[in-house]
Amino acid sequence: MTNDFNTLVAATQATLTRIASDFSPAVFASSLATEDMVLADMILRAKLPITIFSLETGRLHKETLGMLDRIKETYDYEVKLFKPEQSAVDAYVQQNGLNAFYDSVDMRKECCRIRKVEPLKRALAGNKAWVTGQRRAQSTTRAELAVQEDDAAHGMTKFNPLADWSEEDVWHYIRTNHVPYNPLHDRGYPSIGCEPCTRAIQPGEDVRAGRWWWENPESKECGLHVVDGKLVRIKSVAQ
Ligand code: SF4
Repeated sequence: MTNDFNTLVAATQATLTRIASDFSPAVFASSLATEDMVLADMILRAKLPITIFSLETGRLHKETLGMLDRIKETYDYEVKLFKPEQSAVDAYVQQNGLNAFYDSVDMRKECCRIRKVEPLKRALAGNKAWVTGQRRAQSTTRAELAVQEDDAAHGMTKFNPLADWSEEDVWHYIRTNHVPYNPLHDRGYPSIGCEPCTRAIQPGEDVRAGRWWWENPESKECGLHVVDGKLVRIKSVAQ
């Protein structure tokens, strides 16, 4: 765990408060994972005017969907859901099959584009900033992650307030603050995406080894942080 955990928490709370005051309207893209629950807890306890939304891809685990009820019970808050265009889903399934994402990286990215990237664009439209629960230590594709970035692809500022947090920091916050979390995390799923694209990992495996496990580590992003098939080199700005 980070030496001065309380300082880390205070800095993250200050970042969220600054987003709410200086970047309104702002939204938080929650995948309902532990990192996202830390941020949701901070936002909802402080009653910050940051709208929390989730991408309901149509392929999520029932445990993940159950987190929507847990948030409602705990914080009396309804997470806003964005779903894919049904006509695009139907066309993909008809042409390629329901699980064509196993066939190639291109097929997988096209499914993610339809079910995640396009709904994300709709969710972000009209906002000045968006917030994610990404951490630098999560994978090779996130090694250069900054707390505040200029997201030219979406024409807004992107915040990753947990960029400096370790996995231990996240769990320490969850446990000490009794924050609800996805029960899949206790069954070997440190990183959770859509059901057919996520598996449990073995002790010692990389935390994202269970995501698109049939692909190389370099291609393992869903496209939410990617433009034209490439990872966006987002310019870091003063925090
Ligand atoms: S994670 Fe899998 S099921 Fe979900 S949108 Fe991407 S390819 Fe499709």
